[in-house]
This record gives sequence, structure tokens and C-alpha cells, in this order.
Amino acid sequence: MTSNHTIPVAGTLDILRARIDFPLLQELVYGKPLVYLDNAATTQKPLQVIEALEHYYKTYNSNVHRGVHFLSQIATEAYEIARRKIAKFINAAHEYEVIFTKGTTNGINLVASSFGRHFLKEGDEVLISAMEHHSNIVPWQMICEEKGAQLKVIPIDQDGVLKMELLDELLTDKVKIVAVTYVSNTLGTVNPIREIIQKAHAKSIPVLIDGAQAIQHMPVDMQELDADFFVCSGHKMYGPTGIGFLYGKEKWLNAMPPFEGGGDMIKTVTFEKTVYNELPFKFEAGTPDISGAIGLGAAVDYINQTGIRNIETAEHELMQYALDKLSGIEGLRFVGNAKERAGGISFLVGDIHPYDLGELLDKQSIAVRTGHHCTQPLMDFFGIPGTVRASFAFYNTKEEIDALVKGIEFAKRMLA
Ligand code: PLP
Repeated sequence: MTSNHTIPVAGTLDILRARIDFPLLQELVYGKPLVYLDNAATTQKPLQVIEALEHYYKTYNSNVHRGVHFLSQIATEAYEIARRKIAKFINAAHEYEVIFTKGTTNGINLVASSFGRHFLKEGDEVLISAMEHHSNIVPWQMICEEKGAQLKVIPIDQDGVLKMELLDELLTDKVKIVAVTYVSNTLGTVNPIREIIQKAHAKSIPVLIDGAQAIQHMPVDMQELDADFFVCSGHKMYGPTGIGFLYGKEKWLNAMPPFEGGGDMIKTVTFEKTVYNELPFKFEAGTPDISGAIGLGAAVDYINQTGIRNIETAEHELMQYALDKLSGIEGLRFVGNAKERAGGISFLVGDIHPYDLGELLDKQSIAVRTGHHCTQPLMDFFGIPGTVRASFAFYNTKEEIDALVKGIEFAKRMLA
């Protein structure tokens, strides 16, 4: 950002060099260098992703799976290559277990609606956790209401950690699916999802993992995790908005009815009967977000080139640095104190309203998120209206954390 900084090299990553890939990080906000700490909301995009989108629209824009013509074949191949990249990235057993969606919300709605329609009945239970994003609450509430099923919640403690000692008791015979987030978007808590999956599987209960805040921060391997469903958003992993994916085990996806009807998801249609297409197309009705999928493939390439282990190491170091520096601010309290954290930190300062603090940070070109972060039940649990959340990507620097700390101290003086 400025020439007199020491070059922050985390592990084998040259962060300043990597930042050049992200045009928006070079922009000024209010005439000052942008300090972008709202990565949990969406990450910035590297040139490689932007160029993949541009290349598609400039040179082979065409619909997929439909035309025999040259451009359509190239577009179809690029779209399917993107699916292959994702399947490899998450170590799915089969490419057709990767379904393109609009994002995490869409992926969860797909599973809640399709799985729920087929497998839920009156008196059944769906088990989620107290720290879920609204998108992993509301779709389940909707299908539970429709089916006469009940939504059950794994509680948390004051540190924002799941009360795992209650899990056995909560995994009753009535539970038909467990849906939990890997990493809390508000608290940064990393949940013990392996243990949750193992315990649920011991009772033959499938598990959906909301991976929206995990996949950009740590390696995820479907064979090792053994999750039944895993959902993500492209825009939180350096890819475009409007695209994401659902991983689902073949046996579940085959057993589930289509989510939406239309073109592409059919084999044959008559007015009397429709035969559905095979996986993954059964769940991809209509023209998909072709450029988005290709852009997401480019984002996966970018993460692979950077190295997800390098990213994890760099971010871990940054998180420790931020926790250390922020805890030096008088009156600052963390909301969530889990030992294992990734992605973001939520906090409050004295009795300053999070919105006021966010505004004053913004005026210093520091972008953080304030509010309930789409986790209102979590805010109710802590008895607060919201928090200030600083969330990181691997391209953030210690200098930016220092700027945040200075910004908070300035805001405190202004509001004293
Ligand atoms: N789940 C978690 C944990 C999230 O952080 C988010 C977004 O912030 C979502 C789900 C919803 O993602 P999207 O809005 O991209 O569908």
C-alpha cells in the first residue's frame, strides 16, 4: 500500500505481491487507501476471475447443453470444466455430485425444499445450531411448517461455542437431518463438524454443512469430512456473485425430487409425464449462470495457485495479531471467544452503538460490517442489537489491523 512498509510475507505467501491481483484493493476511498475488512460479506475479485468473465462474454458467449454449434460447445465445455475444478477442489467422489446454485442461500433452500418434501413428515425434527445464518434457519422453518415437523437447536455457551455435551440427547430418532455451519459468520467460531457428522451418522442421520465461511479459509475434503451436503457461495471465495454450489452425496441427490422444473432438468416431456434428467442436471433447471460458473472455476484456480494451506496459515497469523491488538483497546469486548476461530471477529466498544462505530470507521476508509449479520437469534442470545465485525481474507495485512485499531481509538475519542 505504501512503500515504507515491511513486506508482510506469511509462510510462502508474498501478500503485497498478491494484492496487486485485486484491482479494487488499489482504489482510494474518500481519497485514502481502502482497508477492506468486510470479507465475510464478500471478498474482492482477482484479475484472473474478472478476465475469465470478460473472456467468456467477449469470445464465446453462448448457451450451454443446447446447441450443436461451435460457441455452444465451447461454453458447455468451459461450464463443465468449472464443475470439474470444484469437484476436485473439494475432493468429491463424482463431478455430478456438484450442483451449480445461485449461492449458499439457494443451495440450502434446494436441500430444505427437496429433501424436506421427500423425507420429512409430521412429528419429525430438523436439528440446526444457535449460531446459524438466517439462510440456514428460515428455509428449514418453512419446510417444517409445511410438514408439521419441528426445528430443534443445538445451544451455545457465552463464548459462542456449541454445547456439544447436549448433542447426543438432541439426536433423537425423530431427527431426519442436521444442518450446521462450519464457521460462524458472526463469531468466527469453527464448529467441530467432524464430531457432529460422526454422531449423526451413527444414527443414520444425514448432515448439511453450511460452508459459506469455511471454504475460503481452510482445506475441505468431502471424503474426509463425509458430509452429506455442503453448500458455498462463489462471491465469498474470490468468485463472482450469483453463483455457488451444492455438493450432495449421489445417494441423497438421486433420492430427492427436483427443486425446480424447466429446461435442462428433463430427459423427456409430454403433457402426461416428464422424465427427469440425471445428475447434476436434474437440479439445474433453466439457463444457468454460465459466466458465473466459469468465473468460479477461475477463483478455484486462483485459490489453488495461492495454496489453501498458505491462505490458512496467513489468515491464522492475521487473526492472532488482530485478537492481540484489539484486546489492547480499553472498553473493547469480543462477542464470541472460541479457541478455534476463522475469518472474522465481532466486538463492541463500551456503549458505542455498532452502527456509529462502523460509520466513523468508514469515514477513515475502513470497511467493516455492523449489525446482526443475518443472525438475529444469536444477537438475542447475547442480548445485543448487533456487533462490529472485522473479517479477513489472505490479502489483508497487519498494517490494516493497525489502521483498524487506530480507527477505533479515533472513534472512541470522537464519541466520548
Ligand atoms: N451462511 C453463512 C454462514 C453466511 O455467512 C452467508 C452469507 O453471509 C450465507 C449463509 C448466505 O450466503 P449468500 O447470501 O451468498 O447466499
